[in-house]
Amino acid sequence: MRSFSYQRATDAGAAVSALASSTSDNNPLTLATAQPLAGGTTLIDLMKLDVMRPATIVDINPLARSWSAIDLGGDNLRLGALAKMSDVAGNTEVQRSYPVIASSLKLAASPQLRNMATLGGNVMQRTRCSYFRDISYENCNKRNPGAGCAAMDGFNRMHAVLGTSDQCIATYPGDFAQALIALDAMVEITGKSGTRSLPFAQLHKPPGDSPEIETTLQPGELISGFAISGRWPRSVYLKARDRQSYEFALSSAAIALDVQDGVIRDARIALGGVATVPWRAREAEALVKGQQFDDGLAQRAADAAFADAKGRRHNAFKIALGRRVVARALQQAVTMEI
Ligand SMILES: Cc1cc2nc3c(=O)[nH]c(=O)nc-3n(C[C@H](O)[C@H](O)[C@H](O)COP(=O)(O)OP(=O)(O)OC[C@H]3O[C@@H](n4cnc5c(N)ncnc54)[C@H](O)[C@@H]3O)c2cc1C
Ligand code: SF4
Repeated sequence: MRSFSYQRATDAGAAVSALASSTSDNNPLTLATAQPLAGGTTLIDLMKLDVMRPATIVDINPLARSWSAIDLGGDNLRLGALAKMSDVAGNTEVQRSYPVIASSLKLAASPQLRNMATLGGNVMQRTRCSYFRDISYENCNKRNPGAGCAAMDGFNRMHAVLGTSDQCIATYPGDFAQALIALDAMVEITGKSGTRSLPFAQLHKPPGDSPEIETTLQPGELISGFAISGRWPRSVYLKARDRQSYEFALSSAAIALDVQDGVIRDARIALGGVATVPWRAREAEALVKGQQFDDGLAQRAADAAFADAKGRRHNAFKIALGRRVVARALQQAVTMEI
């Protein structure tokens, strides 16, 4: 591991100025000279692998006093970015009113990791593409822009079937982001000029021609929290993976429904494990809205969700798997008792 300097930010202002003053290029993740440190469960791993090489890490944990709250006020939820995954997953009010959030966090990683890792770090984690994480492979456009992509013709079983480009097919790996997408969450961002808020769906950027730029965060900006309007007790997170615990999704679905008298009045469907960014399945949502639920409807929605999917040599199975996950998650959401 390379040597680096360590700063402990005492307040938000100090954190953003430490980050903004030492960031020298427009790739806020790979080549930035300063990185925020939250739980460290991704950042330190990638530094050990020599994939991320910050000259400075800015420890933001002292901000936890103001940035780790779980606030359920009226019909809204606000989660601080430094809240631990395990604290949010174990919160009984979150479990009752937003089961999709509690399950997405509980099904992610291991208990030890969830005790350490934060919500902000979770949504900012980087792809698990093995070529990205192994610097002996030069040809990774995300790590070395313009160098090509080893995964296109290599081992791409874990890779994306939706939202890919001819530059990168890496999957966005997290679970919590899908719940945020399904709940139309807003993300609060703190930077040098104060706090701004944007739809969470606009945080992650599809790879396009610049897979090295993964988010719309500007240099020096930090995620300070997430805000959700309304309560969504009829919501589920279903995750298919190679083994029952401690494993990333091959395919997942976060679903939030409003059902009255058997008719789906509102539907939000997000997919994980299959796309380059947390993926909103709007065609599937449109198909089920206003409809009486039955198995045929679930199947048509699942087909619509993957209509544009493009499989490759090792990952084409994700299309069939993903359809089943969507259909089953819809059925679970419709029939759950609330
Ligand atoms: C073996 C293993 C299995 C895992 N399985 C899963 C899984 O199944 N599902 C899943 O979702 N995750 C999984 N993870 C990932 C894990 O959940 C993440 O490592 C964790 O959530 C990251 O949070 P952290 O607080 O430790 O982030 P850190 O490692 O501290 O930071 C991660 C990145 O986010 C940046 N960052 C941190 N906080 C902020 C902020 N507030 N604003 C802006 N940038 C920030 C950091 O600079 C860094 O680039 C797994 C990890 C491991 C090691
Ligand atoms: S899929 Fe993306 S991250 Fe993986 S090797 Fe290709 S460019 Fe790199």
